[in-house]
Amino acid sequence: MPACPICTSCQTVKNGRIHNGKQRFKCHSCGRQFIEHPTKKVIDPTTRNLIDRLLLERISLAGIARATQVSEQWLQTYVNNKYAQVPRQVQVAPKKRGG
Ligand SMILES: [Zn+2]
Repeated sequence: MPACPICTSCQTVKNGRIHNGKQRFKCHSCGRQFIEHPTKKVIDPTTRNLIDRLLLERISLAGIARATQVSEQWLQTYVNNKYAQVPRQVQVAPKKRGG
């Protein structure tokens, strides 16, 4: 049985299936129901930090995806967003001393 994604307890049991046939589970510890493989995958901050460091090593995206166990599609989107959000160096006028 998969661990509960809400409370991380392993006290989970099968609890029928949802409309598209995916297995549904119920957690005995917190009472929540969940699906083992939700469509929307959340990449935790630790993995994102690791990806950021791997990107600096000139490793291929496919290699990084394998090493960090994320999908290449997700990684490509992540990289695109990352470079779209890089702040440009703004030239700030030096403050005048004194005054
Ligand atoms: Zn739980």
